[in-house]
Formats: sequence, structure tokens, C-alpha cells
Amino acid sequence: MSRTVHTTSETETVDVGRQVAGALERGTIVLLSGDLGAGKTAFVRGMAEGLGVDPCEVSSPTFTLMQEYRGGRLLLRHVDLYRLKPIEVDDLGLDEMTLGDVITAIEWPDRLPRPFEHAITVHIAHCEGDQRAISISDESALGFIAHNYSDR
Ligand code: ADP
Ligand code: MG
Repeated sequence: MSRTVHTTSETETVDVGRQVAGALERGTIVLLSGDLGAGKTAFVRGMAEGLGVDPCEVSSPTFTLMQEYRGGRLLLRHVDLYRLKPIEVDDLGLDEMTLGDVITAIEWPDRLPRPFEHAITVHIAHCEGDQRAISISDESALGFIAHNYSDR
């Protein structure tokens, strides 16, 4: 089952990420797809806040391959594979990194050499203007999304 919610601002997308994070269990992998500028990083920022990370820690928009957010209910590891080739991704050791008291959020999962099974997928489609359609694959995560987002 998957569901699509529509947002009309970055703030709303951050909010959806925040709510989804509330439902996630340790070891969860979240794969985020969508064009550049779709809002994947914004969504992950929301996830960090939803896990209880200090919002001041998650405001930086600068590109990094890997960023860790501590201080929340679980460690959030945010990985952006945009600039990597699958063979380079292999060297990161992502498999081991996803184990333990950690949530792993991965942008550009098409760069992964092997798919992760049991991952939650989030696809953000860039619609007109500031509108985004966010499709989320996982039922447990979906229950936490407030109903004030139009659900078409
Ligand atoms: P990505 O990580 O997918 O490349 P970012 O999260 O870095 O995208 O950037 C999204 C950009 O789109 C930001 O500049 C943000 O302000 C803008 N934006 C406009 N509307 C939305 C929306 N509804 N949701 C998310 N971002 C939005
Ligand atoms: Mg990004």
C-alpha cells in the first residue's frame, strides 16, 4: 500500500517528514527519490526534527555525502548519493551502517549497487510551482500523517 500527500510549501514537506519519523523503528531505511529540488532534503530535515534532534542542528543546507544527526530518539544518518557511482557506493559500507539504533535516509537510491529489502520508499514529484506530491510506501509510517494534507 502507498499513499500520496500533497504539499504546497517547504514547511509542509518538512512537516510530513517530521510526522513520518515519529512512526519509524530502529533499523529503518528510507529511500528518497525525486528530481533535484523536489524536497528530499527538506523531508529529511523534518525527519530529524521528528526524531527529536535539535532543529538548530538540522538547518544547514550545505551538501555533504553523509550527515549524522544525534540527540534524538534514534540516530539519523542522512546519505546523499547524487555524486556517486554504484561502485563507489559499495565502498561506503552502507549495509552495516543501517544496523542498530539508527534510521538511515538515502537520497538518490538509484545509485545503490543493490536494492535494500524492506526499505520504506518516499517519492517526491515536483508539480507546478511549490506543489509537491509525496508518495510514501509504508503503512505504519502513513498512519502518522495528519489528515490536513489533501489526500488525492
Ligand atoms: P532535494 O533534496 O530534493 O534536491 P531540497 O529539499 O534541497 O531538494 O530543496 C527543495 C527546494 O524546493 C527548496 O528550495 C524549497 O524551498 C523548495 N520548495 C518549494 N516548495 C516546496 C515543497 N512543497 N516542498 C519542499 N520543497 C519545496
Ligand atoms: Mg537533497
